[in-house]
Amino acid sequence: MASAAGLRRSLRGLSEKEFRERFGTEAACRAALFEMRWREGLTCPACGHRGFCALETRQLFQCNRCKKQVRLTAGTVFQATKLPLTTWFAAIYHLTQSKGGISSIELARRLGIRQPTAWLVKHKLMRAMAEREAKKPQLQGRVEIDDAYLGGERTGGKRGRGAAGKTPVVAAVETTAERKPRRLKLTVVKGFCKKEIEKLAKRDLAPGSNVVSDGLSCWPAVAKAGCDHFPMATGSGPQAARWVPFRWVNTTLGNIKTAIAGTYHHVSAKHAQSYLTSFAYRFNRRFQLDSIVQRLAWAAAHATPQPYRVVIADA
Ligand SMILES: [Zn+2]
Repeated sequence: MASAAGLRRSLRGLSEKEFRERFGTEAACRAALFEMRWREGLTCPACGHRGFCALETRQLFQCNRCKKQVRLTAGTVFQATKLPLTTWFAAIYHLTQSKGGISSIELARRLGIRQPTAWLVKHKLMRAMAEREAKKPQLQGRVEIDDAYLGGERTGGKRGRGAAGKTPVVAAVETTAERKPRRLKLTVVKGFCKKEIEKLAKRDLAPGSNVVSDGLSCWPAVAKAGCDHFPMATGSGPQAARWVPFRWVNTTLGNIKTAIAGTYHHVSAKHAQSYLTSFAYRFNRRFQLDSIVQRLAWAAAHATPQPYRVVIADA
């Protein structure tokens, strides 16, 4: 079994060929999953014994002392799956490698599975991404914050506010002092009102952050979360996008809107947060592409298993 460091090294700049060499067989995926879950070896949850024998070609392990059985996929996103692990790992590969995301139709085609199955696989993996993102620290230091709408029709090319049928989204980007983006959070809000922004700021922004925004009336509410607020008058339309303080936010939002328009055609409000979080997940790991497959597989191995009804209810 490769060491974690070795695995990380060999995942650097993973081509499809390299991916298949590494995770192309069921045995390789099982070994990788075992390593991710029980790097220090498996300890019996019933009696604490550390001696196990492998049954069913390393899918099931039985305690040598009390005969308790532990399944490799139990308690992970892969729990009770009928798909081979190679299909799951291939889904992880395709989901993390394509910058603009991948539709379930395209994912189904690449994996050779039915579209509804691909949809479910994708949403389960997106939930694993969301769980990982939720555990990351709050944004801090200099943070650019901006409003956007997803979906609906553009009205005369304007960045409309309050348009019906659109999903309001807050983009918050932690930047360096040189205004280069570090980390991104994208959040669906009920609307651009002070109450919503206060709630979001308390959850996502560290007290003492310097929040830079445009002049929209809801942003001063970040002060309720102990942030310092620096409003900038930007106007709207094409000039705003070119205006330096919001260049990264606007570029990122622009890319996301383009990707959603191109890949998904439309995203329902119900699933918008899930899609946005998956974009943020990839964005926040854009300098760790050597290990992103391993990282998402790890997240899936440590995320709460979700039955179908939960995934479709509030994905
Ligand atoms: Zn035992």
